[in-house]
Amino acid sequence: MSAIRALQSQLQQGDRTATDIALEYLNRAKQLEPQLKSFIALTEEKALEQAAAVDARLKAGETLGPLAGIPIAIKDNMCTKGIETTCASKILQGFVPPYESTVTHKLAEAGAIMVGKTNLDEFAMGSSTENSAIQLTANPWDLDRVPGGSSGGSAAAVSADQAVISIGSDTGGSIRQPAAFCGVVGMKPTYGLVSRYGLVAFASSLDQVGPFARSVEDAALLLQAIAGHDPMDATSLDVEIPDYSSSLTPDIKGMRIGVIEELMGEGCEPDVRELVQQAIDRYRELGAEIVTVECPTFKYGLATYYIIAPSEASANLARYDGVKYGMREEADSLIGMYAKTRDRGFGPEVKRRIMIGTYALSAGYYDAYYLKAQKVRTLIARDFEKAFGQADVLLSPTSPSVAFKAGDKTDDPLSMYLSDLMTIPVNLAGLPGLSLPCGFSQGLPVGLQLIGKALGESQLFQAAYAYEQATTWHQQKPQIATA
Ligand code: GLN
Repeated sequence: MSAIRALQSQLQQGDRTATDIALEYLNRAKQLEPQLKSFIALTEEKALEQAAAVDARLKAGETLGPLAGIPIAIKDNMCTKGIETTCASKILQGFVPPYESTVTHKLAEAGAIMVGKTNLDEFAMGSSTENSAIQLTANPWDLDRVPGGSSGGSAAAVSADQAVISIGSDTGGSIRQPAAFCGVVGMKPTYGLVSRYGLVAFASSLDQVGPFARSVEDAALLLQAIAGHDPMDATSLDVEIPDYSSSLTPDIKGMRIGVIEELMGEGCEPDVRELVQQAIDRYRELGAEIVTVECPTFKYGLATYYIIAPSEASANLARYDGVKYGMREEADSLIGMYAKTRDRGFGPEVKRRIMIGTYALSAGYYDAYYLKAQKVRTLIARDFEKAFGQADVLLSPTSPSVAFKAGDKTDDPLSMYLSDLMTIPVNLAGLPGLSLPCGFSQGLPVGLQLIGKALGESQLFQAAYAYEQATTWHQQKPQIATA
């Protein structure tokens, strides 16, 4: 039984109250925080309030929401009314949103218990959570290593059982890559499936909110609770949301799985490739038809992303000027105040992206960089279309390596960017992607990436579930969680 299902049956049978469950997770979160630093803030008061409300409903015999009593951690780039939202940036310190994001609103309606706001790379820019201006988060499997990023806190929290499930955001891989590094399931939905209202914007045409969980079933249950049309987000899709858990059957006979040739070779650690190869063999044994697909434009994915994402970021981050949000540095003139606030408020990676984006969008360079990148983006989407002519679901490693040591890549932004080589094309095409554990290399988890057709979440979950049921990787926990 999945963690969510198990807790809910304990609640329904009266074995435990939502308050008991909340306290158990809050206590473990607190106990592990000095070592892990997954959370920017624990929201104990709010959690206990929400748990008491669930217990009151239970007592009154009222029906409970689909996530009633389930402790959840929220990435600190989701606006939470009355609770500071920092994006791990100095510039937002002291910003208390006057409104609630649609996702956290839906979670509260579903009865979930928010235990805290998790650490991230500043404004979700990074692959290791080391760009946080607040603290460094450790990987629960090896405290000297990074948890991945940018949703590193959310991944670490689930991996170490500080929360049952969590929310992340994925612009170029920020859910899937940390899920791989921390040995949990992480999923980026189809662009527009989950509302971005109240998600602090990084690159608006790429950003998607999605679930972390210990199992595919729990990820599906969490997506179910947050997906759906939202009039507050103009890019939100107005589509029927299927019942994802009903697609969770282990039978995938005849499903066509396409191995992306370009993502299996260069730059991939040999152990990672070997484990992914073993996963492919396992799929074959399960009755899937394995085909190889070619996506020749994917080699331009990283370059394309690092024009488009910074361009959008430079526009989105223009609003932080010391007037409307968070921090302000006083100066003699208005322009001086803007400049000083932005200079002191933003960290080096954020500044780098604002400069790249402003440059790429400037009149003389727009055609050569931004417009060209948009054209390549279309070609990447076409490669996916072609591949989906031959396959139902695509497969690759999630990341070319296992979690690296803290500090290893901080002086070399390009090598840090390479971490997302395999996840970025998925965002550029707006498709759903999922990472799930497929083995260990030197004691560190390795992630398998599955990619679905647009709005093909059900099939994606089914493919992931079948593999998960046939393996035991997802049952392993880091020592820190079991001690
Ligand atoms: N690591 C990528 C970046 O730095 C992706 C980040 C993300 O998905 N938010 O932009």
